[in-house]
Amino acid sequence: MRFIPRVSCLLAPLCLALSTAHAADAHWSYSGDQGPAHWGELGSALCASGAEQSPIDIEKSKVEPKKVPASELKLHYGKTALTLLNNGHTLQASAADGDTLTYKGTEYRLLQFHFHTPSEHQFNHQPYPMEMHLVNQDKDGHLLVLGLMIQQGHENKQLAQLWKHLPTQQGQEAPLAAALAPDLARLVPAASHHRFYHGSLTTPPCTEGVQWVLFEKPIELSKQQIRQFQALFPDNHRPTQSDTGREVDED
Ligand SMILES: [Zn+2]
Repeated sequence: MRFIPRVSCLLAPLCLALSTAHAADAHWSYSGDQGPAHWGELGSALCASGAEQSPIDIEKSKVEPKKVPASELKLHYGKTALTLLNNGHTLQASAADGDTLTYKGTEYRLLQFHFHTPSEHQFNHQPYPMEMHLVNQDKDGHLLVLGLMIQQGHENKQLAQLWKHLPTQQGQEAPLAAALAPDLARLVPAASHHRFYHGSLTTPPCTEGVQWVLFEKPIELSKQQIRQFQALFPDNHRPTQSDTGREVDED
């Protein structure tokens, strides 16, 4: 049996890095010599050698899920002041205190959310135009990431103001008052099934021990909104990794 230690002391500085505004790290990218296939050689060994990497392609027919009671996941999200950052890899919105969730009795605090295009996770080999990740951390430094697939459809009104304030230059930061921030309670689908599995960060250093919660129900952005993001980040997704026979549960 494989044993993956949960190393909080490694995660704590990582989470600080996740939550703190940083200028872009120039040492990795999404294409060419510094693209995902080379992350392991670029100093992030786990990206190449890890046993529980993310993202994965979830094949519904393949999994024999254990049932997680729907009551195990409770979101206490709302509107909170944000700091927007173009970190060169994505648009990241760091959250002020206030948004929390509980999963299996443990409380997690929302650190930040950000976006990828196209989606990183896939359902039955099917990617979506975009994916949103909401990164949460418990008091011991463990991470839980909510993944929302984004399909093209109606304009997303919750994200309209944030989209108007997207920092266009790498390293650029912009505050967004709570009044203009998305109401995350409305943005995240209330009625959705979820898939649960153990994985990793999808960017270097690809740290493992991340609890993933993927919403089956996608959210929508308009064609215009998707194009606006892709004008800044044409492709910022890591390809799917081997699922290494991992258990994927559902509620
Ligand atoms: Zn992400």
